[in-house]
Amino acid sequence: MSGTKREWLRPSALPKLARCGQFRGDPVGSVYAERGTRMDAWFRYAFTVGVVADAETPKYPLKEDEHESVNWAVDTARALAGSAFIEARESELRIEAEGMTGTADLLCEKLGWSADLKSGMKGDYRSQQAAYALGFMERYFVDEWTVYLLYCDEREVETLRFTRESATEAIHDALALYHGGVPPVANEFCGYCVNRFDCPARRESLGIIPEFQAIMFEQADSTRLVNFVRAAKVVEEYSEKARREVLARMLKGEKIPGVTLAKNGKTTRTVANEHIARLADKIPIADLVAAIGSLSANKAQELLREHFDESMVTESHGSAYVTIRKK
Ligand code: SF4
Repeated sequence: MSGTKREWLRPSALPKLARCGQFRGDPVGSVYAERGTRMDAWFRYAFTVGVVADAETPKYPLKEDEHESVNWAVDTARALAGSAFIEARESELRIEAEGMTGTADLLCEKLGWSADLKSGMKGDYRSQQAAYALGFMERYFVDEWTVYLLYCDEREVETLRFTRESATEAIHDALALYHGGVPPVANEFCGYCVNRFDCPARRESLGIIPEFQAIMFEQADSTRLVNFVRAAKVVEEYSEKARREVLARMLKGEKIPGVTLAKNGKTTRTVANEHIARLADKIPIADLVAAIGSLSANKAQELLREHFDESMVTESHGSAYVTIRKK
């Protein structure tokens, strides 16, 4: 298996190592992590505007629901700090603990806490946060530390309190499987692991044929349906990987029977908003507004400021769906 260097051994790997001692973080990241990374960047930026250079402005915009989740977390962190200063500069948030380095999301030295933004569902982050807590305790020569986990999609705060002993113990517990050389065990973090496409435990979960055989959806019990979805997800990931490999070969010129290389040659024509703004007084306002269409409630609030009124907002609700944790 790949991933023998220890750069991957960071606090964020600890909860994953506690599930599988063979886990190795994927240096190129994972599709699952992309949303969280984008939200983290904007979360920190909200506290450092005016302190950091413009070059550090997060590159990728947030979607409407992400924007609301990050705003909740910003307000919550500010409420937790009261009048105390919140540190969000990356250089000040780096810690070292038990031979690992990592970066927390926020720090309030005066009140003895750090905080991490968590998107998605609640999880077990105690070992990861123990490393940050131990790092800060060592830096500030204190014996207790508090961590707030800000679950921004669920609008929930989880509070973890550590002493030096409890933090060290949590880290060592998480590393027990890793040090024990235990065989890999497929789990919900496989999608973040560099070994995910050639790991024997994962391949075993492709022995899913029984799950797919003659499933009668309406008659199947719920556990079987959930197992079916999980198994299908693994096949989807493998299929995507195979599709990318096929594409790479065809782009190099290989002809593969039955496969056509389609290129998206669509041309997009746009007019930059500065041209519209320059000519705005020549356009009837009703036509201009109709062309722009409805704005998100957040955008409208920013634009209308004190003229904004909650009664202007129309809410439409998305369709219901289920989220199934990968095992
Ligand atoms: S793919 Fe999953 S089971 Fe395999 S080593 Fe990685 S985390 Fe462990």
